[in-house]
Amino acid sequence: MKEAILYEKKEGGKVKCRLCAQYCAISPGKRGICAVRENRDGTLYSLVYGKVIARHIDPIEKKPLFHFHPESRSYSIATVGCNLRCLHCQNYDISQYPKQHPDIPGEDMTPEQVVREAELAGCKSISYTYTEPTIFFEFAYDTARRARESGLRNIFVTNGYISKKPLELIAPFLDAANIDLKAFTEEFYRDNVHARLSEVLDSIVEHRKQGIWIEITTLIIPGMNDSDEELKAIASYIVTNLGTDTPWHVSQFHPTYKLTDIRSTPVETLRRARDIGKAAGLRYVYEGNVPGKGGENTICPSCSNLLIGRFGFLIDRNRIRNGTCPDCGTAVAGIGM
Ligand code: SF4
Repeated sequence: MKEAILYEKKEGGKVKCRLCAQYCAISPGKRGICAVRENRDGTLYSLVYGKVIARHIDPIEKKPLFHFHPESRSYSIATVGCNLRCLHCQNYDISQYPKQHPDIPGEDMTPEQVVREAELAGCKSISYTYTEPTIFFEFAYDTARRARESGLRNIFVTNGYISKKPLELIAPFLDAANIDLKAFTEEFYRDNVHARLSEVLDSIVEHRKQGIWIEITTLIIPGMNDSDEELKAIASYIVTNLGTDTPWHVSQFHPTYKLTDIRSTPVETLRRARDIGKAAGLRYVYEGNVPGKGGENTICPSCSNLLIGRFGFLIDRNRIRNGTCPDCGTAVAGIGM
């Protein structure tokens, strides 16, 4: 347990947490929406500092980041908890755990241990992922600083609900982020996620302003966010606010958690989303969760030749030379390409 950062003490022992856009006002003895930050006698504590619930050595492609040091390994960690409540959460067993149980499970680790494990595994980066890194910000921040001292990069896989202050704080150590843009209506965010779209859009732009490499992911759910209009709106937002070189991952939904009555996304829907993204001007649009269907490959936006061939998270061919297409010399967007 560690005293939280970025909160204010209020009258009557209450506190206001300013870490994410939920801005919880928390009474003594209570926790915030994420259920991992608790007010004890007027002091806010993070209950998940160093409580690692998951750690894996993942290919960077799994984040997914397709334009950031391809084929490298990323030491990936999480604690329990999340500041959102997505009905379709794929990791609900750990993200929603503290909302239903009083205990905080996890293996005790220090930032130094995480960095050492990452180095021993030959990883180029540490990813704060699986649940929402914002809710274990203090631990992520301390780990990211030590990782940077050791020459490791840092990656957030995030729902984009972090507020401006903590983002400014960690930005000097944060190299890349995959940010969910789950839909493009306030209704979707209100009814399915318990959050506000406008806050996510502001945060995405702020990540870009801070110079962090960004890739966007949208999980396409049949009947909920798969209309041409909504997909066009997302693509157009990315083009206008982040630029045409920003990769967009349109991923297949599978029935899970509280959305078990909706079928998996047809591959044709992903193809339609990809076509819409390309028509809007995006140069790199990928179909996710459908290995072997061809939509995961990186294609040169100028000559249309294959640059990187993928099967799921595995790269079977990488033709990029010195960051450029070997056939026409066009520069490929990204870092460490
Ligand atoms: S981090 Fe948790 S306690 Fe803080 S504002 Fe977000 S949901 Fe509330």
